[in-house]
Amino acid sequence: CKINKGETLSPVCDITFNELNELNNYIKDDLNDLTKTEFFKYFKFDFNNKCRFWKEENNPLCFNKECSVDVIEDWESLPEIWQPEVLGKISTRNVEDSDIHDDECWFLEELCDHERRLPEIPDCNYCDLNDFEDAKCLLVDLTANPERFTGYGGNQSAEIWSAIYNDNCFSIGGETGESLAKETFYRIISGFQASIATHLSMDFLNIKTGKWEPNLEIFMKKVGSFPERVANIYFNYAIVGKSLLKIQPYLKEIGFCNEYHEDVKSQIVNICSQLDSSIFNEEILFDRNEVSLHLKEEFKRRFRNVTKIMDCVQCERCRLWGKVQTTGYATTLKILFELDQNDEETRRMIVEKLTKYELIGLINTFALLSQSIDAINQFEGQYQKRIISD
Ligand code: FAD
Repeated sequence: CKINKGETLSPVCDITFNELNELNNYIKDDLNDLTKTEFFKYFKFDFNNKCRFWKEENNPLCFNKECSVDVIEDWESLPEIWQPEVLGKISTRNVEDSDIHDDECWFLEELCDHERRLPEIPDCNYCDLNDFEDAKCLLVDLTANPERFTGYGGNQSAEIWSAIYNDNCFSIGGETGESLAKETFYRIISGFQASIATHLSMDFLNIKTGKWEPNLEIFMKKVGSFPERVANIYFNYAIVGKSLLKIQPYLKEIGFCNEYHEDVKSQIVNICSQLDSSIFNEEILFDRNEVSLHLKEEFKRRFRNVTKIMDCVQCERCRLWGKVQTTGYATTLKILFELDQNDEETRRMIVEKLTKYELIGLINTFALLSQSIDAINQFEGQYQKRIISD
């Protein structure tokens, strides 16, 4: 990969690729452990939410080979358990109706202060928090459904990616801050897509042996041969890391409750203590002039659209992780761009009203990016070995 690892990630990130790799080596295990705690391993999600962007007749349910990737040419010859409609399914072992009397949901409801669940200031949100209040939501155990190769692909997923990138067509253009904002939007989406591709390459189904294993060719085809995509994963790591650092001083005000309270908090504090605020400078993106405020509103509206487009993803497991990550990025953007540490009022509104699903999205997205960076370094090692042995 043609990246100079001694260079900084971008003009807004004062950290080099090497430094970020080092940082990740320090925190990756803690971050992984955190995602396995009771607080962070469940996500609430309505996978029957209607897709608003395509008419159903043009977008039939697509759990079939038409919507599968072309890296496997002969799906018919493969056993039932390897078909995309099975690989892309969510394991229902830990999925429960979100009935308040249900043990698991009751337990989760108890984890946070009730009063903090309903946001009063929808305008500062980059995703629709009402999605988590719907009675039809299911609780999914993320640890039982890792993000990996599902066979989802073809025109359906390409159309979704294209619709997401089209959301990057801002009506305002011009000055440095404005183009930086647009570039940031693009980099977030590209890093998100590249991180998914890294995960599916790392956990790929070998149809000869039936084993799940890393696939260097797939990684190179989708990510490794594009330095810009690799860099965008690092960029996303920097922005999500910075948002976590920004809320760290207020963790005591966030509603982690009962016995998980101190454990979870101290794990997050340990992770944050390795982060430095120069990792990302959000101040440069939007200043207080009118154009900038307008641009920020547009950024927010467009990002909300991206989170809604996830309802159109026709592979359950991909949609689940799509929702987790877009919620994570939406939370990051809210913290970075709406939380003014010098303004007590907004600080209170943003920090105290963070919902547990936003925090779950944030931590899981950070952990996925951390795994992606680890995987990039592993694939790089494999690639070097292959070059030497050739
Ligand atoms: P795609 O990855 O579909 O790319 C389409 C086009 O986008 C490419 O031709 C290229 O021009 C451009 N592009 C690709 N990557 C980037 C980038 N990083 N930056 C900028 N432009 C880019 N599949 C799984 O196996 N497991 C999953 O968990 C999974 N989750 C998904 C979640 C979502 C929300 C979506 C939309 C798809 C998901 N998929 C998943 C499918 C996966 O993302 C690919 O679409 C699929 O593997 C087909 O890949 P492809 O190589 O044909 O191109």
